[in-house]
Amino acid sequence: MYLVIKNGYVFDPMNGIDGEKMDIFVKDGKIVEELSSNELKDAKVIDATNKTVMPGGVDSHTHVAGPKVTHGRLMCPELQHKHIVKKTEITHSGSGNIVPSSYAMGYKYTIMGYTTVCEAATPPMLAKHTHEELKHVPILNKCAYLMLGNNWFVMRYLKEGDIEKTAAYVAWMLKTHKCFGIKCVNPAGVENWGWGLNIYSLDEPNLHFEVTPREIIRGLAEVNEMLGYPMSIHVHANGLGHPGNWEIARETLTVPKDIKPNQKVEIEEEIKTKVPYEREQSIYLTHVQFNAFGGTSWKDFESGTKGIIDYVNKSKHVVIDSGCVIFGRTICMTGDGPNLYDLAVLTGEKWSNDDVELECGSGIVPIIYKKKNGVHSVQWAMGLELLLGVKDPWKVVMTTDSPMGVHSQTIQKLSHG
Ligand SMILES: [Zn+2]
Repeated sequence: MYLVIKNGYVFDPMNGIDGEKMDIFVKDGKIVEELSSNELKDAKVIDATNKTVMPGGVDSHTHVAGPKVTHGRLMCPELQHKHIVKKTEITHSGSGNIVPSSYAMGYKYTIMGYTTVCEAATPPMLAKHTHEELKHVPILNKCAYLMLGNNWFVMRYLKEGDIEKTAAYVAWMLKTHKCFGIKCVNPAGVENWGWGLNIYSLDEPNLHFEVTPREIIRGLAEVNEMLGYPMSIHVHANGLGHPGNWEIARETLTVPKDIKPNQKVEIEEEIKTKVPYEREQSIYLTHVQFNAFGGTSWKDFESGTKGIIDYVNKSKHVVIDSGCVIFGRTICMTGDGPNLYDLAVLTGEKWSNDDVELECGSGIVPIIYKKKNGVHSVQWAMGLELLLGVKDPWKVVMTTDSPMGVHSQTIQKLSHG
């Protein structure tokens, strides 16, 4: 099987190619330097004149499978039945524009140029559901992060100061639940939500377990490096969606700064000089656009991205993603129950909340991001500020945080041609 992608503008940061007009040759599924004249005769040719050719996108934070997305579909049937994807000779049928059904999810992500998606919030007890659904998302490579930031065993072992026991438990959890990395959502706060409360400071102990967000973040980061996982801990900070939360988000980034990353990625000798091949970061802060709010209330709300961007620019141990929102209808969904309750109160929209016994929870609220709404417009700009303000492109990732961001709206456009 031979393929030539002709005349496109090629972008390939790993090989230092920056918009060069060139042809790409593929042989048996692998990119090669060239094809022989005989192979060229049999090759399928794609004319990519005036088009961009780049490696497949990796969405390192998205919500594509599991109980949350199913709840989102159930809560908003009005968004599902109007958007039907018809069966073709090579594809299954499907429905939904904001949270497409599993097959459609894979097709639509593929159309956008993605090859890998990371499901960002898997509740351990419901991991089977996540995997079953991921199995039905076609074409893409997939992985899932396991929510451990409010897990009763993790909190108890950390309170006892037993890091080895925490590590043994985390290792067992990741192995048995077949997940790729550690996710930490509103650490200590989601547990408090079981009692109608939240947490607004890194040093506030939660009820019953009496551990603080700082102790959980630090403990999980230490465990992550003890176990040598490929990615650092993936953190959704406390105080999401509240004015002034940029300060707690920046403080969160400082927590594991002295913990040494412990992962050497095996990479071919010839490209070692071109890319950072040892993981340098000990923390990944996600959808920072929701955690970089400035001001003290909705009345003086402003962007607080500068404080985060400055910190990221001067620190080696940090990677962030933007999670940009764009305008239009979508469904907010997250493992952060209390903060989505606050959003539901603010917007008066329908609301769903889930508590997963002993370990985590979630919240879902439909929302329309409006251009005329000052907060929404600033939020939209904040996503761009984060992407453009961080100088080292290896330290900031454009994520869809689907269905919150780019994904749902883009695929809406795609499905309408
Ligand atoms: Zn998310």
